[in-house]
Amino acid sequence: METGSPDTMQLSFEFSAPRSEQAKENLIGTYRKLANLNPDYVSVTYGAGGSTKDGTVEAVIALAEQGAKVAPHLSFGRDSEETIATLLHTYKNAGINRLVALRGDVPSGIAGSSHLAHASDLVAFIRRETQQHFHIAVAAYPEVHPESTSVKSDLDHFKLKMDAGADSAISQYFYNADAYFRFLDNCAAMGISTSVVPGIMPITNLTGLIRFSNNCGADIPRWLIKHLEQYASDVQALRAFGEEIVTSLCERLLEGGAPGLHFYTLNNSRASTRICRNLGL
Ligand code: FAD
Repeated sequence: METGSPDTMQLSFEFSAPRSEQAKENLIGTYRKLANLNPDYVSVTYGAGGSTKDGTVEAVIALAEQGAKVAPHLSFGRDSEETIATLLHTYKNAGINRLVALRGDVPSGIAGSSHLAHASDLVAFIRRETQQHFHIAVAAYPEVHPESTSVKSDLDHFKLKMDAGADSAISQYFYNADAYFRFLDNCAAMGISTSVVPGIMPITNLTGLIRFSNNCGADIPRWLIKHLEQYASDVQALRAFGEEIVTSLCERLLEGGAPGLHFYTLNNSRASTRICRNLGL
């Protein structure tokens, strides 16, 4: 296993797709601050069925115009292959060469859809449509995707994405480093040697974090919740404690060989910047 280090690791920041012109301007401002950390790329989420679809494309183009290397997230949702093909060519023509291919989630706006195409179907479609043009990253779940019936089936489905042509993966966030290392071991045992960059969620808001974690199946360990609850009425103290915890997590991940860090910024530069600075990035 390669050893991750601040000198060689891949750094990326994820933004949520803006829903208004003002939100887009704010996002660009956040990007400008994070650009000081020289990220390898930034990514923009995609709500396959809802209003953020156009917001993703607009933000991606605006960020590219700022000189950012951008990876749009993409899902089929209920769109036709033709619609997705058009989007792929829009991105290709805009000089984009990296994508994050996902199935997407019902709460993100695909209400009423009875069937969501698996991410592996999208990866295969992107390869058919644009061959090797895009670097395709997919999602990985060290703590197991909430809909999966077993660890094994989750890994089998992860392998399907790799076999369909994915190049790398970004993990769901977690606060238990052992889950990530176990996931890598399981992948290695299945012959999957793809780079899996851990997703990092800074801790800035306890209520929001608990709600979000319940939805996506990320575990917040009891001891961590108990400590965070102590700071429920003191947001500065909560952020300082969160920063310490997440910095330690990142250190452990990099020491253990993680190839990089992918920060879920929630369109805010402060927490990610402070953690990166703590890590000497
Ligand atoms: P898949 O890989 O398709 O897996 C979904 C579930 O189906 C899993 O339980 C899997 O085991 C199972 N499965 C897969 N293939 C098969 C098969 N052939 N047969 C049976 N079961 C199968 N959501 C958004 O809406 N927009 C975003 O921009 C977004 N960005 C994300 C970025 C990252 C880094 C991560 C980790 C998640 C992101 N998500 C986003 C959330 C993601 O869409 C959800 O977690 C979703 O529920 C699953 O997406 P997936 O791509 O992992 O799906």
